Amino acid sequence: MLTPLSLHPSFGFGDRLGLATPGHIAAVHGTKFAPIFAQQSVRENTRTGRTPQQVIDDAKRAVEAANWELPWGADADHLKTLEDIPPFVEAGYTFFTVDPGEHVDNAADTDSMDVLRQKVAGLNWDELSTLYLNQNGEQVWRQFAKSPQGEAETLMRSTVKYGKAIQHAVAMFQRLSEMKDAFDFEVSVDETDAPTTPLEHFFIANELTRRGVKFTSLAPRLIGRFEKGVDYIGDLVELDAELAKHAAVTKYFGTYKLSLHSGSDKFSIYPLIANYWGEQLHVKTAGTSYLEALRVVAQCEPDLFLKIYSLGRERYETDRHSYHVSARLELLPKTGDLPSLLEDFHAREILHVTFGSALALFGAELKGALLKNETVYLEGLQAHLEKHLQLL
Ligand code: ZN
Repeated sequence: MLTPLSLHPSFGFGDRLGLATPGHIAAVHGTKFAPIFAQQSVRENTRTGRTPQQVIDDAKRAVEAANWELPWGADADHLKTLEDIPPFVEAGYTFFTVDPGEHVDNAADTDSMDVLRQKVAGLNWDELSTLYLNQNGEQVWRQFAKSPQGEAETLMRSTVKYGKAIQHAVAMFQRLSEMKDAFDFEVSVDETDAPTTPLEHFFIANELTRRGVKFTSLAPRLIGRFEKGVDYIGDLVELDAELAKHAAVTKYFGTYKLSLHSGSDKFSIYPLIANYWGEQLHVKTAGTSYLEALRVVAQCEPDLFLKIYSLGRERYETDRHSYHVSARLELLPKTGDLPSLLEDFHAREILHVTFGSALALFGAELKGALLKNETVYLEGLQAHLEKHLQLL
């Protein structure tokens, strides 16, 4: 049943080809997670040439064929403008991820006090400073503000940085509420320039709540690097300490799940994430299922794989734009063992971010190869995604 999943632990399986849902069903079956079988952002739709309707129809077909009768969801991912919403509502999506990142004022971290004072006018500053800075002000916020002297400045920076983004998220929520009765609503700031501090996380959650936004999940940008299709890059001890602070914020509210974006292949941090949010967690993956498709092609259709790989190397410097990746062409391994490239950091990232170019040229051939090797693809997806789910 396609339905909002509310606070139930959930896992997003993005599928850029429309053929991965059988493998996703096999992996999620019997776990605590409620699945999102259709999950596509506007950016992905542009790069894959698929419409929101096609994405949800492909998932529905597989769900019916597998007789999956439990709840599942469809995520309209990274919606940025009011105009992005209607096609997803019309297609029957149940989960709406709003990304107000373009309204985040990243300069607020370093602006002078004079500049901050100018910017804060028009952002309900009088109301906010009364609310947060008076003696009985927001308790948890005070706990996170580094010192009583720094409270006003920190509040001002948070207000300037996120004030317009919060207003935009509120407007998106209101528009959706006019169009739909029940839906999951996520606010994601995971693609901003700097990590979201626990204090900023509190500020965003508190302001959304005060303004009546019923959000079921929130995606902060965590410290370290969450690159596409590869493990976490960063210090696990530092991350653990930071997660504990974010967990104090989510626990204070208790009304929403933590959402982990770019969740593909972050094996080293899943135990930490599960420790804090095991029962109130949403994880998004997408790229890893595309890479599993390429693993099948590397094994079963080497000529096609070589064409996709050579196009990927050509397109990487252009297509990497708008993604967080650090792979370098000159560090690609020289090997004739094609499936082993799917274990290499650089090859994985390069193949990942060039999926749009690959689909434009070789999409039909790629889909043909996967249909021909359906069982290999299903078993590969199942094994790889079970590895994710078991650690969570
Ligand atoms: Zn994201």
